[in-house]
Formats: sequence, structure tokens, C-alpha cells
Amino acid sequence: MAINGQFTKLSIVVPCYNEEAVLDETVKELTEIMDHMIQNGKVSTQSIILLVDDGSADKTWTIIEKMTRINSYVQGLKLSRNFGHQSALIAGLETTGKFSDCVISIDADLQDDVHAIYELVDKYHEGYDIVYGVRDKRDTDTFFKRNTALAFYGIMKRMGVNLVPNHADYRLMSKQALDELMKYQEENIFLRGIVPLLGFKSAKVYYNRKERFAGVSKYPLKKMLSFALDGITSFSVVPIKLVTSLGFILVLIGIAIGAYVLIVWFLNHTISGWTSLILSIWLIGGMQLIAIGVIGEYIGKIFKETKGRPRYTIEWNTMSCDKNTAGDYLKDE
Ligand code: UDP
Ligand code: MG
Repeated sequence: MAINGQFTKLSIVVPCYNEEAVLDETVKELTEIMDHMIQNGKVSTQSIILLVDDGSADKTWTIIEKMTRINSYVQGLKLSRNFGHQSALIAGLETTGKFSDCVISIDADLQDDVHAIYELVDKYHEGYDIVYGVRDKRDTDTFFKRNTALAFYGIMKRMGVNLVPNHADYRLMSKQALDELMKYQEENIFLRGIVPLLGFKSAKVYYNRKERFAGVSKYPLKKMLSFALDGITSFSVVPIKLVTSLGFILVLIGIAIGAYVLIVWFLNHTISGWTSLILSIWLIGGMQLIAIGVIGEYIGKIFKETKGRPRYTIEWNTMSCDKNTAGDYLKDE
């Protein structure tokens, strides 16, 4: 829950992978925004900008280290190797979540409009726990990227995964929402899918997506595909269910073909052995797929269990006076 502006500790988490070309500008712009918000009493003077170096091979870390010395907002976190965007984000969120009232995550390349941060923070003060930055237009993305992204949202929706369309990882989360997020301990983390699962009061803030300020995208096609596949397989067992359905369809077709071959057989228009052969191919094929599907259903259950996701999330507990310590009351008994 939002508290008085000048006591609100904000952390801005920026994952950086080989971003030497953009860091100076990114930090300059974020610093201006911080200064402005502190002057207006929106956030506390203890707010920080945390740059997470995701095992960069260029001068990213040297730059970050230098910045921590000359810019009082900047702090650095260096991962031991390249863990990938999502893991770098989680590292930053988990670290800052311990001492911040709210955390904003934003890419290093200035594609997401930094000025939307004002609105994200305003929404937080209005009492929202999760505020999604949503791209209004995507003119600056390539035709290919726009359409593959659109197809991805479509597929995910069909698979039963609830995503906020045109929202990437630009968002604000309150401490309470972050604490809940950290209960999701799965290794294949797909933040965009998990955050909406948390519930809580959420809002959207719209902005225009710009071109990358400098440098090149760190998401080549191969990484994009594996990201999409990760998103699907870590959330959905729909592909397994498809196998079962296919099995049933094959059996149905088998029965229809069965009727046909029997008729042909009765009319004596067939060579010996053909009827039994055709019948067994369809029926056995169908039954095998059903059997695989049934095994798949169990594997799907195991898959869900191994994730160990929390079964529910408490937003408020009247037995404890502080919303954030809901549950401690019971522990103290
Ligand atoms: N990133 C990262 N680790 C990686 C790949 C990317 O931390 O392995 C960061 C990158 O520095 C940037 C953000 O994730 O801040 C998004 O990457 P990028 O802008 O290259 O992706 P795109 O906008 O092209 O999808
Ligand atoms: Mg980008």
C-alpha cells in the first residue's frame, strides 16, 4: 500500500547485457526523472537505480562501477555469467525488493519511454500494487517483430496463458506483490505470465515504444523463439491435451473407415488381408495416441507439482494489522 511520497523508496532495476553504447544516456535520463520525483516529494531520497550486468563481454561493468562512484543513485549488481534477461531481472527484483517500497523494471536501451515512470509512480500512490507499462504503438519495431509478437500473444491466449498484450517487462510492483512473486521458485521463469497470476489491484500506463537508442537487439530470432517456447511450455499443458484429442479423432476416423472396409469386404470387392490391415492401422494408431496422451496428462500433473507454485495469495488479513505481515500473526501464536 502506498505511503507518503517522500518516504517511498523506489528502485529502478535495469538489466544490461553488452549495453556500453547506451548506459551513459540511460542513466542520465533516469537520473533526471529521479531528481524530479524527489523534488516533488513523490519518492524518497534513498531511491536507487540498480544496474544489473548480465555477464556482459564489453565494458558494461566498468561503466557501471564508475557510475556508482559519481552518481549517488546508481548501484550495480554483476552476475557471474550471462543468465538471460529474465534471470537478470529476477536478480535485480529480489535484491531491491528487500529494502524498497516499490520497484520498476525497465530495459537499458531506452525503447520504453522513461517519462512513463512518473505515471507508474502516481498509480502506485493511488494504491495500485502492479502497474503495467503498455506500448501504445509499435511503429518503430520491425514488421517482423510486430507480427511475431502478435502471433505469440494469440497462441499464448489459446494455450490458456493470461498475458497483458503489448506489455513487456516495463512495470512497477509494490513490495507486497514482489514478496509474492518471490514465492514462485521455478527455474524457467517467465515473468510476463506469472505477474498477472499474482492478482492484486493493477493498472496500465500507455506509452510509445521508441527505437533502440544505440547498440543492437540482444534478442536475435533464435533467442526469441526459445523465449516463446519457454513461455508456452512453462505455463501450459495444452500441447499434451492436443495429443489426447488427436488420438480420439484418429479412433473416430478409424471407426468410420472400419464401417467402410467392412462394407467393401461384404461386397467381396477386396483382396484377403486388406480389411484387417486397414482396420488395425487406424484403431491401433488412435489407441496409441490416446495412451500417450493419458501418460502425458500425468506428466502434466507432475510438471505442475514440481513448480511448487503457491496455491493462493493473501492480499489482506484482518487478523494482522499490517498488510505486509499478514500471516505473521498466526506464526506468533
Ligand atoms: N538483456 C539481458 N540479458 C540477455 C539479453 C538481454 O540482460 O541475455 C537485457 C538487455 O540489455 C536489455 C533488455 O534485456 O536491457 C532487453 O533486450 P533487448 O533490448 O536487446 O531486446 P528487444 O528490445 O530487442 O526485444
Ligand atoms: Mg530493446
